Amino acid sequence: MKKTTLINLMLFALLLIGCNAEEKKTDTTTPDNRTPNFIVIFADDLGYGDLGAYGHPTIKTPHLDRMAQEGQKWTNFYVGASVCTPSRAALLTGRLPVRSGMASNTHRVLFPDSKNGLPASEITLAEQLKKVGYRTAAIGKWHLGHKEQYLPTNHGFDYYFGIPYSNDMDMVDGLLPYWDYWQQPNDSIKTEHFNVPLLRNTEIIERPADQNNITTRYSDEAVSYIKENKEAPFFIYLAHNLPHIPLFASDKFKGTSERGLYGDVLQEIDDGVGKIIKTLKDEGLAENTIVVFTSDNGPWLPFKLNGGSAGLLKAGKGTTWEGGMREPGIFWGPGTIAPGLVTEMGSTMDLFATFSSMAGAPLPEDRILDSHDLSTVLLQGKESPRKSLIYYRGTEIYAVRHGDFKAHFFTQGAYGEFGERLAHDPPLLYNLSHDPGEQFDIAQKHPEILQKVDSIKALHQSKLKPGKDQLADRE
Ligand code: MG
Repeated sequence: MKKTTLINLMLFALLLIGCNAEEKKTDTTTPDNRTPNFIVIFADDLGYGDLGAYGHPTIKTPHLDRMAQEGQKWTNFYVGASVCTPSRAALLTGRLPVRSGMASNTHRVLFPDSKNGLPASEITLAEQLKKVGYRTAAIGKWHLGHKEQYLPTNHGFDYYFGIPYSNDMDMVDGLLPYWDYWQQPNDSIKTEHFNVPLLRNTEIIERPADQNNITTRYSDEAVSYIKENKEAPFFIYLAHNLPHIPLFASDKFKGTSERGLYGDVLQEIDDGVGKIIKTLKDEGLAENTIVVFTSDNGPWLPFKLNGGSAGLLKAGKGTTWEGGMREPGIFWGPGTIAPGLVTEMGSTMDLFATFSSMAGAPLPEDRILDSHDLSTVLLQGKESPRKSLIYYRGTEIYAVRHGDFKAHFFTQGAYGEFGERLAHDPPLLYNLSHDPGEQFDIAQKHPEILQKVDSIKALHQSKLKPGKDQLADRE
């Protein structure tokens, strides 16, 4: 090689290095001037034990596991209710659903013939963030009212793409009775058996929604929204309607998991998580975005192999045992979230105060919130401000946790099994740090703790004004 050619090549290489350095510089400095973006990925009926990072032996969730490794993995992270509608209301309002009327003793969730939905008087997390200039999108299952006035675009979201209620609703006429239907083999269960609409904003664009590839479509919508809205701070609420039954996976994922169809579904959700993280990195937004992954309630155990696993926790969806209300809680944000394992308490209701604090949106003062600001835990690894938790079933308090201890005043079997309601006096008492599976009642040894729990319950009830029941009225 001639000497001049060699010098030219070296100069060219130096130029390339220079360009890369310049690009890198731009990537790392841009986001600092902005409040963070928030993405909440909310699975449906996924249990505490269903992810690789939470101990599942065969379901492979490498992207979620990596988020947990790089960010914070919470092991005492809760939802506001053990079924879909009230749990979603709790996350989006930062309030126990009994306050908004989104919990009921006659109907556990909303149905396609329900008259009502989340009242306009409630302030959603999207409305809260819009006050300080966020762009907001809801993608996936809503389940807070399917009539136009209750849809996401009338609750603070600029954009909506998804199904308005559960994917097992609107079952077509002439099929077997509901519970018998699920006794069939999985390949007899078809997406066209559920006449569920798919909406863009307020328009039905597909009915029945093709559920075979719905998970990937939701993830792709989130990716597009990130790319199109990267100039402003954004909030994406990505509420997958799976792994709630009926289970569907697209061809690319069908048969890929050792766990069977349920595992295929989770692996497709995880793949979408990977696409979202990659997009954030490619767009230079990773350092300025917080991604949260959790689920609305525990596994629907009466569906046996089609339901998930609560791992070492007791029972599942519909109950106030730990398996119904404790969920994986993963917070990811490189350079923002202090990595580590968090064994203290947090709740989906806390996202309201936490995101408001990080975005600089003042909290509403005209209502009681059940939301704690977790930002110092997330950013600095400090102690969680949440010290207690109230477990409702409908509008009744079934259990209260304070510190390590949880007292059950009532217990009842899973949704769908119609297990008997049992009253406990004295309450059952468990030390959840020693006994997360709620196996060993220690009430006799700790009257002082029962007294403390009673006082927390009494104080809560003294301030409670239940909202008007929004679930009871049907067409
Ligand atoms: Mg659910």
